[in-house]
Amino acid sequence: MKKYDIIIIGGGASGLAAAAAAKRTASDLRVAIIERLPKVGKKILATGNGRCNLSNSEISVKKYHGSCNKLLDMTNGFSVPLFFESLGLLCEDDGYGRIYPRCRSAASVLDALRLENARLGIDEICGFDVKNIKEIKGYDIISGNDIINGRKLILSGGGRSQSALGSNGSLLDICMNMEIKAVPFYPALVPLKTDPALVKPLKGLRAEAAVSFRAKERTIAGSCGEVQFTDGLLSGICVFDLSYLYEHYKDSSEIILDLMPDMSLEELSELLKNIRSIRIQTSSEDYLSGIFTRPLGNYIIKRSVSENIGYTRDITDRMISRIARKIKSLSFPVIGTAGFERSQVTGGGITADEINDTFELKRKTGIYVCGEMLDIFGDCGGYNLDFAFSSGYSAGRNAALSAIL
Ligand SMILES: Cc1cc2nc3c(=O)[nH]c(=O)nc-3n(C[C@H](O)[C@H](O)[C@H](O)COP(=O)(O)OP(=O)(O)OC[C@H]3O[C@@H](n4cnc5c(N)ncnc54)[C@H](O)[C@@H]3O)c2cc1C
Repeated sequence: MKKYDIIIIGGGASGLAAAAAAKRTASDLRVAIIERLPKVGKKILATGNGRCNLSNSEISVKKYHGSCNKLLDMTNGFSVPLFFESLGLLCEDDGYGRIYPRCRSAASVLDALRLENARLGIDEICGFDVKNIKEIKGYDIISGNDIINGRKLILSGGGRSQSALGSNGSLLDICMNMEIKAVPFYPALVPLKTDPALVKPLKGLRAEAAVSFRAKERTIAGSCGEVQFTDGLLSGICVFDLSYLYEHYKDSSEIILDLMPDMSLEELSELLKNIRSIRIQTSSEDYLSGIFTRPLGNYIIKRSVSENIGYTRDITDRMISRIARKIKSLSFPVIGTAGFERSQVTGGGITADEINDTFELKRKTGIYVCGEMLDIFGDCGGYNLDFAFSSGYSAGRNAALSAIL
């Protein structure tokens, strides 16, 4: 049976960082990364549309959800861009705070991690799908008849999003069987399902909007940006960032779009009256085409006014006030999410009160947890990879320090 001082289960962002940290901390330790897929880092290659948005200039607890206060504190302000610079990979801010590798290549990010791990002499054992963990002289990790023993384990198996990229939730299931407390996984950063009939006329369109998530007759949270309308779904980064709320407000939640957020209702009504006088002779189909695309303009009119309007001159002041209200508050009921296979990250996971300040499980000494397996996720913009790398690095360092005691 192969034996290691530290075994890292999961060769994704957090696991690769954890391995480097462990071996940098104590070079004599025998360290291995175990990965269920044929190669490590498959998800990293898919991040940021192949460009890998690996961090953000403004890492703040406000951008995270779940047990984030304690977990973020535990990474001790670790700098992901500086870590990559130490691997020879230059990073830069894209002008909006999102940090990418200068070459905009996710493959270069993975190469930097793999080169470092090869330099440090870390074993990569791929195609090993861990099915069970047993506490025997440290821990045996088991896949069918194959067993590998580790004095310390680092669990970096990710969440459940897009399982073809590796993470399928299996490690969390193993933890829950060991009676480790966790919030069940749920999809986050995911398109939201709405009434298909309501979005059908908008299919393929995009619109800039201030977006609010409403439930229980109040606005729970908001964001702004480009909303995309697809088959029965609302999508776009601004929707992704609110999508986790569906898990908490399943009944009667809705997305409200303000399509003219820079104007008050009164200003907008005045503008619409002006446009009516300018376009008085045109078909009503052209009434809003100077503000929105023609299909979106007509959609708004149809959702505001039940009567068929032939010409712009037939639009009354009352109709204008209804149209203005609809532009400021176009609502779509939320009836679900597009699920784990369309989600970028997974909410839920092992809660902060299950681990001590070194990312070690309180109930299982010698097992550390990092990355998306923990009950934390961030908004779009590099926050998730930042946490994966920084929590992985901290867990790896702490595991190595305890292994050499
Ligand atoms: C399409 C896409 C684009 C994204 N883009 C960005 C972005 O640009 N910026 C950003 O910040 N975040 C992005 N994310 C989110 C980010 O990739 C994840 O939050 C991050 O990769 C999580 O790292 P992790 O190490 O915790 O898990 P993962 O990267 O999921 O790695 C987990 C690894 O563990 C392995 N594993 C799981 N179970 C077992 C087992 N039982 N035995 C052995 N191995 C196992 C898996 O195969 C996998 O390789 C994106 C996600 C997706 C899906």
